[in-house]
Amino acid sequence: MTEELTHWIDGKRVAGRSGRYGEVYNPATGEVQARVPLATAEELGAAVESAAAAQPAWAATNPQRRARVMMEFVRLLNRDMDKLAEALSREHGKTLPDAKGDVQRGLEVVEFCIGAPHLLKGEYTNDAGPGIDLYSMRQPLGVAAGITPFNFPAMIPMWKFAPAIACGNAFILKPSERDPSVPLMLAELMQEAGLPDGILQVVNGDKESVDAILDHPGIAAVGFVGSTPIAEYIYARGCANGKRVQCFGGAKNHMIVMPDADMDQAADALVGAGYGAAGERCMAISVAVPVGEETADRLIEKLVPRIEKLKVGPYTSGGDVDYGPVVTAQAKDKILGLVNKGVEQGAELVVDGRDFELQGYESGFFVGPHLFDRVTPEMDIYREEIFGPVLSTVRAASYDEALGLAMDHEMGNGTAIFTRDGDAARDFANRVNIGMVGINVPIPVPLAYHTFGGWKKSAFGDLNQHGPDAFRFYTRTKTVTARWPSGLKEGGEFHFKAMD
Ligand code: NAD
Repeated sequence: MTEELTHWIDGKRVAGRSGRYGEVYNPATGEVQARVPLATAEELGAAVESAAAAQPAWAATNPQRRARVMMEFVRLLNRDMDKLAEALSREHGKTLPDAKGDVQRGLEVVEFCIGAPHLLKGEYTNDAGPGIDLYSMRQPLGVAAGITPFNFPAMIPMWKFAPAIACGNAFILKPSERDPSVPLMLAELMQEAGLPDGILQVVNGDKESVDAILDHPGIAAVGFVGSTPIAEYIYARGCANGKRVQCFGGAKNHMIVMPDADMDQAADALVGAGYGAAGERCMAISVAVPVGEETADRLIEKLVPRIEKLKVGPYTSGGDVDYGPVVTAQAKDKILGLVNKGVEQGAELVVDGRDFELQGYESGFFVGPHLFDRVTPEMDIYREEIFGPVLSTVRAASYDEALGLAMDHEMGNGTAIFTRDGDAARDFANRVNIGMVGINVPIPVPLAYHTFGGWKKSAFGDLNQHGPDAFRFYTRTKTVTARWPSGLKEGGEFHFKAMD
């Protein structure tokens, strides 16, 4: 039986009314396991109305009480970790340990939000002028919205709604229509944690509901994470409508391997970062850049046996699987289409996963691992984000050429350098025009108390997500300049005065 999913509006599961549905697959079997309703602009409007009605009382709740809801939410996330991970793997396809990591990295942002009372404190200048004090306060925006991608259906919604709500906003979440169950479960847990109804709404949908969010005058801010073309579109339309908008887009993360790197360490790192989660991570390494022909030969030699040993399978096979299927049949076709283009355009396919099939799961969306060597910057596999288990090797003659490759690519989400030379690493971190840098760390995702964000075509807007930046994004500053007239202290008289 196909499950029929709902929206979450005003603290209840609410059936869709549009008559339009999206299909939610089990990527391991290829079967449709649920239908998700796709909201109309009217349904979105109803959610905004109830959010706007609930928000002032939530904003007036003191920040410590708001933080206690987050504290309880953390406890509930830990209590339900296995259940959440199972639902996540079933719709997304990633392995169970990876699904738990998805929940855990969101949970850590919720933990950070428990510090809201401190993070929301303003600034104060005593005696800025004669009898004048100046102070600033951070106030919530009202109703904010988040539009999130399929690849982290727990973590990224939490990156968005936890800080927004801790700041005193109401929040409308429009999760990916590919894996909407976990976001609905998170909303239920927030209610169980004590969040008043209406403060977190989940409106499922596609472009129609996204456009409704972008055009709704009652929504003050929009946070987006997804592919670059959609990020650009949302940024332009949201800004044109006068909203505060931050959009995080796609990636093409390069890992520079210097001749002095520990080649076993670099190969292990590349395999984990390139093929983990089937390459469906915005921080995946998709381009390896060995410096010098000899480094390249040694690296390829180390990579091939490791890649050939990778175990691909469904999350139900337990801890024995390195990565699972990709999210949809279309994603699989797109990946294999790009691999074929790579071959046509002259790249050397050193590990060919095109014929990969998993016995018993022939209809699943599994893609075998691929490794390309001698990729050049004009090729489509270099320019485009493949978002699959495909690693491209571009051989660079020198460190400067390797740095130039990373710098000239239009994406700027993350990058890494593997070296034993502190000077090269330091120079790389200082000069590279990319938002997140790893030094002997292949997936440099910053922890919750720092902020996450790319440069160039990987991000639009001027603040990062989570960490202190999220508290800036979801609040606006009000600055008060105050002078009080002389008061009673001069007017009060408590002793006899001689009359003149
Ligand atoms: P996507 O752009 O297809 O979808 C993201 C969201 O936008 C979804 O909620 C979807 O419903 C909505 N959407 C899709 N098409 C739309 C349209 N035409 N108009 C309006 N809304 C639309 O992305 P995805 O495939 O779900 O996620 C993968 C992408 O996300 C990759 O490019 C990956 O690099 C990126 N990503 C980036 C980060 C980051 O922080 N930079 C993090 C995770 C994923």
